[in-house]
Amino acid sequence: MKKIQMVDLNGQYQAIKEQVNTSLATIMETSAFINGPDVKAFQQELENYLGVKHVIPCANGTDALQIAMMGLGLEPGDEVITADFTFAATVEVIALLQLTPVLVDVEPDTFNIDIAAVERAITQKTKAIVPVHLFGQCANMDAILELAEKHNLYVIEDNAQAIGANYTSKNGKKQKAGTIGHVGSTSFFPSKNLGCYGDGGAIFTNDDELAYTLRGIVNHGMYKRYHHDVIGVNSRLDSMQAAVLRAKLPKLDGYCAARREAARKYNKAFEGQEHIIRPKTVNGCGGICDTCDCHVFHQYTLKITNGKRDGLAEHFNQNEIPYGVYYPIPLHRQKAYLDDRYDEADFPVTNQLIHQVISLPMHTELDDEQINHITATLIEYVNG
Ligand SMILES: *Cc1c(COP(=O)(O)O)cnc(C)c1O
Repeated sequence: MKKIQMVDLNGQYQAIKEQVNTSLATIMETSAFINGPDVKAFQQELENYLGVKHVIPCANGTDALQIAMMGLGLEPGDEVITADFTFAATVEVIALLQLTPVLVDVEPDTFNIDIAAVERAITQKTKAIVPVHLFGQCANMDAILELAEKHNLYVIEDNAQAIGANYTSKNGKKQKAGTIGHVGSTSFFPSKNLGCYGDGGAIFTNDDELAYTLRGIVNHGMYKRYHHDVIGVNSRLDSMQAAVLRAKLPKLDGYCAARREAARKYNKAFEGQEHIIRPKTVNGCGGICDTCDCHVFHQYTLKITNGKRDGLAEHFNQNEIPYGVYYPIPLHRQKAYLDDRYDEADFPVTNQLIHQVISLPMHTELDDEQINHITATLIEYVNG
């Protein structure tokens, strides 16, 4: 059996090798390292793929979130609601901008932000909601947009994990994840579903005025050379990363399909298992089917409900099966983000998930032998 890896990017590289190597050589020959033609071309190609008016490339997904918040003109003391169960980047940039992060609980089956908890957290000071489309599927955007409209809030989608996923609204309208709220952000970190060979990120919006503001902010607040109208940052996607992304973007739907296929096989293997709860897909099909495109499985995350998650992790270590525990500590209990406003009773779901979740190897190169080995090892241990 081929050695199992959590993320295996070599197969993808082999399939685009010629194009990538040629593009990188051209960039080196022409010294167009920054703001070269590949960056502009990628921007347009991604706009077309997503069906969004503006893509603003930047240096990474964390910057993308920060710049989005800067562009919306949020001010110190403004409250921004986001999920307790996510990667720290989301809450980090809120705090860095001296906005007030307000963490709320998530749903037990999708792991996405809980709408009732968001509603309870809204105050006079609330200015924005940041749903994180965790593990590859959208949060309940219909409900979030409804709340946002009612309370006059911005919606900033952290789409670092769900690029390529679709969201079908109640009215039947189908949109790409990250293009539904006022502004969306993504990351092109190598292990993300659309990853480059270093760091990269982008911001999406359909708002012309906001796009103009954001393009200045990424470039030191310059709208005219050496005229600095607002405080900006330096956040660029470099030409080499753009060239890699240009080679990969036409294959993104294929990558997503390969991930879904692996998820479908995992799901089938765990069917009927009492203590192994499979990830729930909620939008579009209500379950995994061959045509569903609502979940792109950045992670395939199970819940182990009989207290054996930690033992399973150790068993995987011994058997050289990689896994991830995303996330082991809720953000509201991270030292940097402690706040008297939080009450443990407000986080029953996150506090349970951290002991139950385990993410299995997930990438575009998994074969049946590997999947069978992983699922058999897991089932035997959990029921043993
Ligand atoms: C990866 C990730 C980010 C940050 O992206 P970087 O490119 O690493 O800065 C932000 N939010 C979520 C949910 C992520 O998974």
